[in-house]
Amino acid sequence: MSAFHVWGIFARLCAMQIANQIVTNPVARGLNIIGDRWTMLILRDAFLGRHRFNEFREHTGAARGTLANRLEGLVEDGILFKQLYCQSPERYGYWLTEKGLALYPWTLLLWEWESRWGSGGGGGPVPLQHHLGQEHGLKPQCICRHCRQELRYDDVKRVISPDAEPVPASEISKGLGSQRRSRQQTHSGSDQALSHVVGILGDRWTTLILAAMFIGLHRYDDIQQQLGIATNILADRLKSLVDSEVLARSEYQSSPPRFEYRLTEKGKSLYGQTMALRQWVLDNLPPVAHPFRLVHASCGEDLAVDVVCGECKQTPQLGEVQFERDPETLEQAL
Ligand SMILES: [Zn+2]
Ligand SMILES: [Zn+2]
Repeated sequence: MSAFHVWGIFARLCAMQIANQIVTNPVARGLNIIGDRWTMLILRDAFLGRHRFNEFREHTGAARGTLANRLEGLVEDGILFKQLYCQSPERYGYWLTEKGLALYPWTLLLWEWESRWGSGGGGGPVPLQHHLGQEHGLKPQCICRHCRQELRYDDVKRVISPDAEPVPASEISKGLGSQRRSRQQTHSGSDQALSHVVGILGDRWTTLILAAMFIGLHRYDDIQQQLGIATNILADRLKSLVDSEVLARSEYQSSPPRFEYRLTEKGKSLYGQTMALRQWVLDNLPPVAHPFRLVHASCGEDLAVDVVCGECKQTPQLGEVQFERDPETLEQAL
């Protein structure tokens, strides 16, 4: 066997290894369940105390069929349960299960990210308030479960396990190829809270590209090859991420022109919620063999995260957090 052939096999194995890292990545598994625009908006509403089909319809702005489909998907995945709340006419509502409620820390981080980076204006989320002891502003923080330090993107190492079974890159695109973006389909009266973050993360291809960025892929050709993604979809999603200032593009070769993409400060600040979603998968879904471990460099422990209030360092519980203004405060603001 020639050196060329050996190199070819090695390169293919490396490609499969990276593909495997993405497809079996807990983050990708989590996004497979909830990384969809409508699903994210339904979860937002469920945490805001909305339960009825028409409430979801009004606030998400989703079409009836789309909404029914996503609600059933969330019931099948054990995140919502369905219960009769009216006998005549027969009406069912949807409530969060324990597994669904465990997404609360992730939701808080999405809210925080939106407050920081959203376009602002009347439709954006109001700052969170923590009603624990003396009421105070809530800035949710993603921290290491072991050393309790705040998690930073640059402070996490990947440790590869060489004996993991590789997955072909084609596996990654299963169920994703036909997904279209549905940005403009909400009606004008829908609730705009989280609209910016959902506009970015509510598309599985986009989030898969971000997952690739978080494990160190930066060049167009590498991402295209490793994800097995169609060039037009990749170009569209990368442009959108650059337009949203989550990624910055730079030319690393002029002839022929070749580009690479780096996470901006705004992009890196999605890391906490990404790790909170990973933790939800690890804590709530059956374990799957994965070819690498994440290690928190500061303490050397396998990465596990918690979300706490930056002010009082307690884990915010449902019912302690105020998402919306008091009517009185709202009146004053108006
Ligand atoms: Zn640590
Ligand atoms: Zn607090």
